[in-house]
Amino acid sequence: MKVQDSSFASLTTLRVGGTPRETVSCTTAAELAATVAQLDADRQPLLVVGGGSNLVVADGPLDLTAVLVRNEGISLVDGLLRASAGTTWDDVVVFAIEHGLGGIEALSGIPGSAGATPVQNVGAYGSEISDVLTRVRLYNRETGADEWVPASALDLAYRYSNLKFTSRAVVLEIELQLTPTELSIPLRHLGGEQVSLAEARKSVLETRRAKGMVLDEADHDTWSAGSFFTNPVVPTALADEIEAKVGEENMPRFAVAGGDGTKEAMEKLSAAWLIERAGFPKGFPGEEAPARLSTKHTLALTNRGHATADDIVALARRVQEGVDKQFGVELHPEPVWVALGLNNLP
Ligand SMILES: Cc1cc2nc3c(=O)[nH]c(=O)nc-3n(C[C@H](O)[C@H](O)[C@H](O)COP(=O)(O)OP(=O)(O)OC[C@H]3O[C@@H](n4cnc5c(N)ncnc54)[C@H](O)[C@@H]3O)c2cc1C
Repeated sequence: MKVQDSSFASLTTLRVGGTPRETVSCTTAAELAATVAQLDADRQPLLVVGGGSNLVVADGPLDLTAVLVRNEGISLVDGLLRASAGTTWDDVVVFAIEHGLGGIEALSGIPGSAGATPVQNVGAYGSEISDVLTRVRLYNRETGADEWVPASALDLAYRYSNLKFTSRAVVLEIELQLTPTELSIPLRHLGGEQVSLAEARKSVLETRRAKGMVLDEADHDTWSAGSFFTNPVVPTALADEIEAKVGEENMPRFAVAGGDGTKEAMEKLSAAWLIERAGFPKGFPGEEAPARLSTKHTLALTNRGHATADDIVALARRVQEGVDKQFGVELHPEPVWVALGLNNLP
């Protein structure tokens, strides 16, 4: 179904971005696959849009069709949970908890659709969708097949899958293997404690709200695309250098698993910590700016009500350049950007 008068400012949580040539809302998997197939056959550029919570889209008229994923539904099939791609992800979490199923309670409050969760292997508080994802039903844009594929075919890694940035397939449904349980997984933000599923959700939502990480129309700190940069992985020698330079004890740093011992040792650092230490405090650059770092969390770039995509890009570049200059670390944007060149330093 065609939608009139939509713009990416209304389709995304960052609330910036121009107007697609056309917007089509798809309420069934068949309609979603057929719409994408037709646009591909006509060689028309398109962008698949779920909740718009991980998108940064350029301003102005855009030569693409926005295909809105709006097929909804949650069911239990042979002990596995299935969710249609357009289902609000947090509704899936609530459904699981109400059915006494554990495994995704730490992913409470992540905005967006169920179908997008494998795209960047969403994660929070020590949990990732890859922990429970068994299969995804894909419309394969290269072959035209509508097929269930195992999660192992997606190369899921930290905030990555082979669906991200490639647009090679559209997720129509996801399937999760959850665990009948009364107790949550060990929660990282509670020092590994296990609590009831409902308490886990409550505590995750409270922690997220304090950081502006639960959508709230009235709170501009949540007009964002979530964490704007991924946590960088750097050689241990560079991590040592940064720690010595900053001169603080307990710099957040985590050894990265993998390698065969012959490769250079690598560690993951906290992008938020680096941003703050590079001279970008919460709320940077100040009250008057249309785009600012969240006043609750340096990792979120936020729209204070009248920012443009260019304002967001300018702030992102400033932060990228500052961290690079100060520490020699290149930060990579986490969201998917459209018609913008955000990943490269000028
Ligand atoms: C306040 C806030 C907090 C956040 N917290 C977290 C967090 O804790 N952890 C985390 O991992 N992320 C977080 N995010 C990022 C975001 O919520 C997730 O990446 C989410 O999964 C995006 O879902 P979406 O439906 O909004 O995707 P969109 O933004 O609509 O799309 C993102 C990308 O996925 C593609 N896509 C969407 N749906 C499909 C589909 N069905 N098939 C194929 N491709 C598709 C799009 O084309 C685009 O490339 C946060 C974002 C915000 C705004």
